[in-house]
Amino acid sequence: MSTDCIFCRIAAGEIPANVVLQTPSVLVFRDIAPKAPIHLLVIPKKHIATVNDITSEDWELVGQLFDAAAQAARMEGVAEKGYRLITNVNADGGQEVFHIHLHLLAGKRLGFS
Ligand code: 5GP
Ligand code: ZN
Repeated sequence: MSTDCIFCRIAAGEIPANVVLQTPSVLVFRDIAPKAPIHLLVIPKKHIATVNDITSEDWELVGQLFDAAAQAARMEGVAEKGYRLITNVNADGGQEVFHIHLHLLAGKRLGFS
């Protein structure tokens, strides 16, 4: 855990979050500044800064992230209608929090920009 990482602190329960789903390795919670009617963040409890830092040791965990995303989508009732998963990487990708996460956006027909 990185003490100066906001998502590590959320995973540790030090900073409150609106948690939707928790597994032994993954936490899903609502984004504080939603960009769609449903906007969830899917994070590993383990600190990994960016997609560039994923190693073969993390492959099972990456699968668990997607599995938790799909489970959260079912819980929110959007699995069949649809949703979007986004991962931003570094400056040009618009990454602001350097702890990998999937954005799960849903609840309206999403455009592409
Ligand atoms: P990024 O730009 O790194 O892909 O996305 C970071 C996301 O984290 C943003 O959508 C931002 O609104 C969200 N976020 C930042 N700080 C917090 C926080 O303290 N709590 C929650 N729930 N979301 C946060
Ligand atoms: Zn972290």
